[in-house]
Amino acid sequence: MEILRTPERNHVSKSKIPSPILTSTSPKFFKQRDDDVSDKLSNHITLSYKEKITELNNLQQELYDKKLGFDLLKDELFEEAQKLNFLKLQFDKLQTEKLMKNRRYRNQFIEYTNYSQEQDNKLKVLREGFEINKEQMRIENDSKVNKIMKEYSLKIATLNENQMFSMKKSRENLLDEVEKVNNEIKLLNYDEQFEEAYNAYEVVKRSEWLEEYHASWKSALEETENLNGEKSKLLKRLSLLKKAHKAMKEQTKSLENRLSTLQHESNKIESTISQIRYSIQEKESLIEEFSGVKPQLLQEITNWKKRTLLLDEEFKREESLRRINHNKIQELRGNIRVYCRLRPYIKDEAATSNSDGYIFIKPFDANAGQQRIIVNDLKQLHAFTFDKIFGMQDDNYEVFDDIKNLVQSSLDGYNVCIFTYGQTGSGKTYTMLNEKDGIIMQTIEYIVHFAGNLHKLGWEYELEVEFIEIYNETIRDLLNPEAKHQHVIRHDDKKGTTEVTNTHKITIKLTHNEDDEIAKSAQIRQLIRNGNNTRNTKSTHMNNASSRSHSVFMMKITGHNRITQEHSTGRLNLVDLAGSERLQQQEQITSQETLKETTSINKSLTCLADVIHSMKHRQPYIPFRNSKLTYLLKNSLINKSKTLMYVNISPNINSIRETINSLRLARKVNTG
Ligand code: ADP
Ligand code: ADP
Ligand code: MG
Repeated sequence: MEILRTPERNHVSKSKIPSPILTSTSPKFFKQRDDDVSDKLSNHITLSYKEKITELNNLQQELYDKKLGFDLLKDELFEEAQKLNFLKLQFDKLQTEKLMKNRRYRNQFIEYTNYSQEQDNKLKVLREGFEINKEQMRIENDSKVNKIMKEYSLKIATLNENQMFSMKKSRENLLDEVEKVNNEIKLLNYDEQFEEAYNAYEVVKRSEWLEEYHASWKSALEETENLNGEKSKLLKRLSLLKKAHKAMKEQTKSLENRLSTLQHESNKIESTISQIRYSIQEKESLIEEFSGVKPQLLQEITNWKKRTLLLDEEFKREESLRRINHNKIQELRGNIRVYCRLRPYIKDEAATSNSDGYIFIKPFDANAGQQRIIVNDLKQLHAFTFDKIFGMQDDNYEVFDDIKNLVQSSLDGYNVCIFTYGQTGSGKTYTMLNEKDGIIMQTIEYIVHFAGNLHKLGWEYELEVEFIEIYNETIRDLLNPEAKHQHVIRHDDKKGTTEVTNTHKITIKLTHNEDDEIAKSAQIRQLIRNGNNTRNTKSTHMNNASSRSHSVFMMKITGHNRITQEHSTGRLNLVDLAGSERLQQQEQITSQETLKETTSINKSLTCLADVIHSMKHRQPYIPFRNSKLTYLLKNSLINKSKTLMYVNISPNINSIRETINSLRLARKVNTG
């Protein structure tokens, strides 16, 4: 047992006894006296006093340590006493429990011994009863068995006696008989005679049988041969029959199949027949119903026919009126119109040119029927007014929406010219010739479609298409680029017609068969695509492959009304002009060719502007002859013709000078 715990274990004592504490008032801290007289004595006293004090302190420390140990022991003792008390209590409890259990056990034991005694007694009585019963039954059985044994032995003895008797009797009889037979045998001795007779009989019998057998064998052989022949014949026949059977089987099978399909079909037909019968019945009943009102209906039908005829005529009159009105509207909008189109940024232009805020398009002014565009060239603002302005977000379909009316006019027999003007890269070709939705492509679709509508009113149309370019004042046929023909422009001033000699012309009769029309418009598209690819291109400072020629798509539209016998001829000219950019001072003119080209383009564009301007201001002299282009289009520009010019501009800041030039020229055309 551990007696002392080391104080280092930081045990907190539960004892109430206070521990001795050293304070500043303790004798240890008394000051030394500073006395010279009794220096020695006092020194001695002080020394012994100090020793005593130290001793006292040590004793006190020892006492304190002891007390601490004692406290710890006391605490431990207290805890142990508590534990002991608890164990005592537990022990008492267990003791009483044990007592109770013992008592209960004793009672149970007594109960059990009583019970087992009782059972033993019962068992004893039962066993005795059983033994008595057993003895009784044994005695009874023994007597019964004895009785039966006696009876049986008696019965067996009598039976044995009877049998012995009858057997003896029959033995005697048999012996008698044997003796009798023996005697008889002794009397009769025919053995030899019998053997001879039997042999003779056998010989006769055998020869007869042999002959008979031979004959029958022969006939049997013959018969077998016959049968064999017949058998092979039959076998052959059988194989033939088998084949035939097989073929028949197959035939039957196919016939069965056919039968089932036929049956199926016939079922169907029957059901349709019954349906038809039913509808016939229905119709018959309807006819019966209506036969009463038939004359009335006939009368009504004739009335309707008359009315339809009247309406037809009215409709035709309306159609002529529509043409006139449509033209009036177009004239009111102005026979010469100038539109502007600002193309969107392409490729990475927006990122590099940073031109946002240089070009502003104002909303359309419906009252004035005009729209304004303002260009900021960093020095000043330039404002221009047009009949309409298309912005970056407007696509070719929106542009074409405005052209529809002009195309319709050309179907109605008026001449129409549409131009795209602008510097290279400003979107002229995109507007006019874009493969999917350029003006030319949409025009073809529209004409094919609209001519279909007019067909219902009796109009038949024929188209004649030419596609040429003017390069350096020379005409080239884009539909027949290989041929090196000379082309001359010829006007018939009386008829107001123009002809370019030696060009390839495509004639298309609109049939109003939908498939045919789709095929035709595809054919024209392909021709235009090919023609456009052959356009002359040459490098300029603007870009490497820019078009330096005007392309002119010409379509003559001839209409004939088979009901009213009216005729109409309209001309539609769709012109993609050459790039309008000026030669720059600093640009090196590499060849005489390029100089000539540029001069010719500038001249023809200026001339076109002059012509349109003069027409718009109804001047008496119009300088058509100054360029090939204006001369070619003379008859399509005069009289009631309609002219539309698109000024294409680029949003690129680097093109701002050319943009302003283009807009200035357009303003000159538009206002003068
Ligand atoms: P255009 O019809 O005058 O003649 P093309 O259609 O033959 O010219 O070729 C123009 C091509 O050059 C366009 O595909 C366009 O991408 C490019 N291009 C032309 N001008 C510019 C420009 N200013 N900035 C960027 N690309 C240009
Ligand atoms: P141009 O014929 O005036 O030289 P392009 O028609 O060849 O100019 O146009 C120059 C480029 O700009 C082409 O790549 C063209 O596809 C593109 N472009 C022009 N206009 C549009 C437009 N409205 N929308 C989208 N791309 C355009
Ligand atoms: Mg072009």
